[in-house]
Amino acid sequence: MSSLDTDAAAPLTAPVAPERPLGRSIMRGLLNRCPACGSGRLFRAYVKPVDNCAACGEDISPQRADDLPPYLVIFVLGHVLVGGYMMLDLIYPASAWAYLAVLAPLGVISALASLQPIKGGVIGLQWALKMHGFGGHDDSPESFEPKNPAA
Ligand SMILES: [Zn+2]
Repeated sequence: MSSLDTDAAAPLTAPVAPERPLGRSIMRGLLNRCPACGSGRLFRAYVKPVDNCAACGEDISPQRADDLPPYLVIFVLGHVLVGGYMMLDLIYPASAWAYLAVLAPLGVISALASLQPIKGGVIGLQWALKMHGFGGHDDSPESFEPKNPAA
């Protein structure tokens, strides 16, 4: 048996990590489903994610959506509502109070309705990119010791 035969028996590639497609993971999160399996629920209450997926057991606790979902909601809804207001004012000129009576509740309801799906999408994004411990690494903050405390 030559050395070529033993090389041929060795695995050609290193173990491959499971695939995490970005678009699929974000879409599953937007549908409030586990980004890993797509069948387990992602939230146990309004904008409260589960710790582990009930279907596949994926650990969801490393998610750090923080302020990105409200920022995205404000960014998107602000453009839609302000643009809608400006367009409506051109077509149907009415008093500012009439627009305020319609658009303010519409803004609040649509913001509350879109916050959880957008948070799910952010969690799906973080899971797909293996951010914040989703890749199996520790994400605890490093301890910071000032090198020269006297300065
Ligand atoms: Zn799952």
